[in-house]
Amino acid sequence: MPRPETVPLLIAGQWTSLSGVPTTPVHNPSSGEVIAETPLGGPREIDQAVQAAAAAFPAWMETPPVERARILFRLKVMLEDRFEELAVSVTREHGKTLAEARGDVRRGLENIEYACGVPSLLMGESLENVARGIDCDTIRQPLGVVAGITPFNFPAMVPLWMWPMAIACGNTFVLKPSEKVPLTANRIAAVAMEAGLPPGVLNLVHGGREAVDAIIDHPLVRAISFVGSTTVARDLHARGTARGKRVQAAGGAKNFVLVMPDADVSPTATGLMEAAFGCAGERCMAGSTAIAIGRAADTVLPELVDVVSKIKVAPTDRDPAAGMGPVITREHQRRVCELISQAADAGARPLTDGRTTSVPEAPGGFFVGPTVLDHVRPGMATMTEEVFGPVLNVVRMDDLDAAIELANASPYGNGAAIFTRSGKAAREFRHRIQAGMVGINIGVPAPLAFFPFSGWHASFFGDLHLQGRESVAFYTQQKVTTTRWFSHGEGTIWADR
Ligand code: NAD
Repeated sequence: MPRPETVPLLIAGQWTSLSGVPTTPVHNPSSGEVIAETPLGGPREIDQAVQAAAAAFPAWMETPPVERARILFRLKVMLEDRFEELAVSVTREHGKTLAEARGDVRRGLENIEYACGVPSLLMGESLENVARGIDCDTIRQPLGVVAGITPFNFPAMVPLWMWPMAIACGNTFVLKPSEKVPLTANRIAAVAMEAGLPPGVLNLVHGGREAVDAIIDHPLVRAISFVGSTTVARDLHARGTARGKRVQAAGGAKNFVLVMPDADVSPTATGLMEAAFGCAGERCMAGSTAIAIGRAADTVLPELVDVVSKIKVAPTDRDPAAGMGPVITREHQRRVCELISQAADAGARPLTDGRTTSVPEAPGGFFVGPTVLDHVRPGMATMTEEVFGPVLNVVRMDDLDAAIELANASPYGNGAAIFTRSGKAAREFRHRIQAGMVGINIGVPAPLAFFPFSGWHASFFGDLHLQGRESVAFYTQQKVTTTRWFSHGEGTIWADR
């Protein structure tokens, strides 16, 4: 068996391997094999990276936006050349299918494409004659050193939500990727260096909680972008803002998909399947609870069970026909199965049961099959927890009002969707639902790079979201200049005093 890869840090343009620090294993979830060891950097490494970023900032800030964009253009072309290699890397360390991994890389690259437009995005506003002879304008300037902390579930896309736009705006960056999936982030950073990013503009420190705490406490870090679970997001937002930092913290989710009795059966069944079981349910936009309204359960469930039963659960690193891969760790596999058992014990009825799925060709993999639980009621374990696995709750309700009320009772507010042929029902849903990203006949309404990733309530802490124009606002501060020019001899000027 090959030795696990070491995972170097990128500080001031140099790749360095840490020795003498604790490490945590990175698994290939399809096989269970340890493929790398992530070093757990701490305050010392974070300080080195922040100092490197601070040293690089003055020159990078003065680099014209068009030149910064040119490096990002080059990076985008170079990453396109390595597209498949990156997708394979995502599949290997995360376990999602190759098609899903390609989606992860594609969505990430779109964020680089969007950041290439930074000269236009940074433009300010101006107004002549705010008073007689006085003009006013705004410019946007970078903040300085910005840090990003990312989760395991989109190893390519989520880091790319952050650092390309942050550096395009003239900031320098310290990225701390998830310790469970450090490899793709490193590969992309290596290409960024090849594309001509000056040393210190992008730094990568690997680690866990200690590294995150060091970022929160570091006085030179001006802003933090975080994506991960709600518990950490809420705490990080509170601690970061208490230290005067700007913080955007995207958290967990529980997304509801309403199915009206008039919904088109086949696209709805397919939409529910993709929403619940894409990426093995490890998506913050997973549609994990379907509310079947009226007779919708009777029309849609048979076809849903049919399509779900055909999903091929297989090791994604070697089976190109795999329709769904494993979950991220053995521990998570056990937890998902336990939550299914708790719901079943409380009266939920499994129509498909992922606890019994076996994948004989990959006995060490962390597999849970796609699980559809019917007759789920509020309060059951799979309703109260963010399962983050391939489990779809089906709740049966009588009308749209009650369904919206149930969805709105959730503490989260990331995504929500409705399947219907009624424009009136769709409009009512969009107007009243308490979620920031809404799908109408779309199960996973994840916005592309040029729209904000707009979670509400316990799914987001902060004011300005990731992606889109809000990210430009997050990574810059505005300066408003009010100008008056005197004719010679008019007014008082310093030289006359
Ligand atoms: P996580 O919260 O465990 O980890 C996220 C990051 O925080 C990692 O880099 C990790 O090292 C760090 N971290 C973990 N525990 C910490 C602690 N106690 N103190 C400080 N730092 C800590 O999340 P995860 O399991 O990697 O990712 C899954 C979660 O991310 C899910 O809840 C999912 O919904 C959420 N997510 C949200 C979005 C969104 O846009 N809202 C997108 C993707 C994922």
